[in-house]
Amino acid sequence: MRATVVGGGLAGISAALRIADAGWQVTLREARPRLGGLTYSFQRTVAGQDLWIDNGQHVFLRCCTAYTGLLDRLGVTDQVELQPRLDVTVRSEASTRVGRLRRGALPPPLHLGGALAGYPWLGLAAKARLLPAVVALGRVDREAPATDRDSFGAWLRAHRQGPRAIEALWDLIGVATLNATAERASLALAATVFQLGLLDRADASDIGWSRVPLQQLHGDAALRALTKAGVEVRTGDKVSTLEEIGTDAVILAVPPDQARRLLPPSSLDLPDGWVEGLGSAPILNLHLVYDRVVLEEPFVAAVDSPLQWVFDRTGHSGLAATTAELVEAPRGPRQYVAVSLSAAQAYVDLPVAELRARFVPHLEALLPRARQATLLDFFVTRERHATFDPTPGTARFRPTARTRQPGLYVAGAWTATGWPATMEGAVRSGEAAATAVLQDQPSRLEVVA
Ligand SMILES: Cc1cc2nc3c(=O)[nH]c(=O)nc-3n(C[C@H](O)[C@H](O)[C@H](O)COP(=O)(O)OP(=O)(O)OC[C@H]3O[C@@H](n4cnc5c(N)ncnc54)[C@H](O)[C@@H]3O)c2cc1C
Repeated sequence: MRATVVGGGLAGISAALRIADAGWQVTLREARPRLGGLTYSFQRTVAGQDLWIDNGQHVFLRCCTAYTGLLDRLGVTDQVELQPRLDVTVRSEASTRVGRLRRGALPPPLHLGGALAGYPWLGLAAKARLLPAVVALGRVDREAPATDRDSFGAWLRAHRQGPRAIEALWDLIGVATLNATAERASLALAATVFQLGLLDRADASDIGWSRVPLQQLHGDAALRALTKAGVEVRTGDKVSTLEEIGTDAVILAVPPDQARRLLPPSSLDLPDGWVEGLGSAPILNLHLVYDRVVLEEPFVAAVDSPLQWVFDRTGHSGLAATTAELVEAPRGPRQYVAVSLSAAQAYVDLPVAELRARFVPHLEALLPRARQATLLDFFVTRERHATFDPTPGTARFRPTARTRQPGLYVAGAWTATGWPATMEGAVRSGEAAATAVLQDQPSRLEVVA
């Protein structure tokens, strides 16, 4: 049996591996010269040194088991870091105090009780109102269609969460995982993130990240694994019509607009205008190279600040071997940090100079050491279509893997995984499409116009 997978992002990679492992002959066709899709890296020379830059900081949680399963399959598990227990430093521009969200030994939701009790960025009254809301969120039926039509922000307000709790806690986690503020997000997607990522298991929220450039972790490792599995990988091969493909099954693991262009009309059981209905939301990363260490932790989250999460990128980029090495010689080596701005609709189109003028003072307010440091380089990466826009009502625009055309399937983080657009969702979608192909064992793809 033969299959073609169109699109070499995490969804296409996962689907191709799964089908090849089942003994099929698989061709993977990717438009760009490399695999990895929205997770990629490029080189940039900074002060005479070639650094690896990721298009955007990516993190995962311990609950992302499909994604970590893919890392295992690619043989790169030793190239990621996974916290033994959730530990997030939370700084404020308004104070030199430091907050820490660290899980304790109790079962959820009490595993965060100690950390929240000592969390300096919320008052006592707000803290007292947290537990009932957390318990209620744990009980939300995230699969009920009505839940997806509700706004997370409205739900939080109805559960006595004020603007401060939303800013200093709910959005701190929610914006980075949903790519939308609570006000703009679907309750179903938010409930998925908080239930699976925080409440179902105590260790679910331990944070993981790559220690190497994303290109190395995903695209390059996938090329090796796919080739070894017998998959014919064709990069720089943009598919412009399905009619040229003569395999038994085709999985389209491409973004929504490309899927609509390639699919025969009415292939998906979705309302008209589904691509526009899904929309897209941007993520902006600011990259800063300093002449000394400004951040000692691997990352910090920010409150009272437009900065959301700031990551040390020094080791990944090749600027220095480890942060520990830098800390030992703080005046010598340089440090590279990336500021990840999700839901960046307000900033994504601003010129670099304006972004620099606007955000560097905030970084100096958040990280006091940056005030004395010299900024050696500042540049930005903009992903205007990083994810679909997870607004209320988007679930009805997300298709399942099977289309109405026998032998034709769709995958991608935007399909009906129940998850927001994440690496976990992408891998799950690829696996779901592969499972459908293997279950159906279609005899031949027939494109019916
Ligand atoms: C800046 C940024 C930060 C993010 N941060 C996180 C994070 O911290 N954690 C997390 O879990 N997720 C994060 N995400 C989301 C995550 O990267 C995506 O959800 C996931 O990578 C999507 O994978 P995919 O395979 O569904 O789609 P894509 O990666 O979009 O892959 C689709 C592929 O199809 C190819 N293609 C398109 N048209 C054709 C054609 N006609 N012929 C052949 N090939 C074609 C494209 O070139 C592309 O390679 C982030 C995304 C961005 C952009």
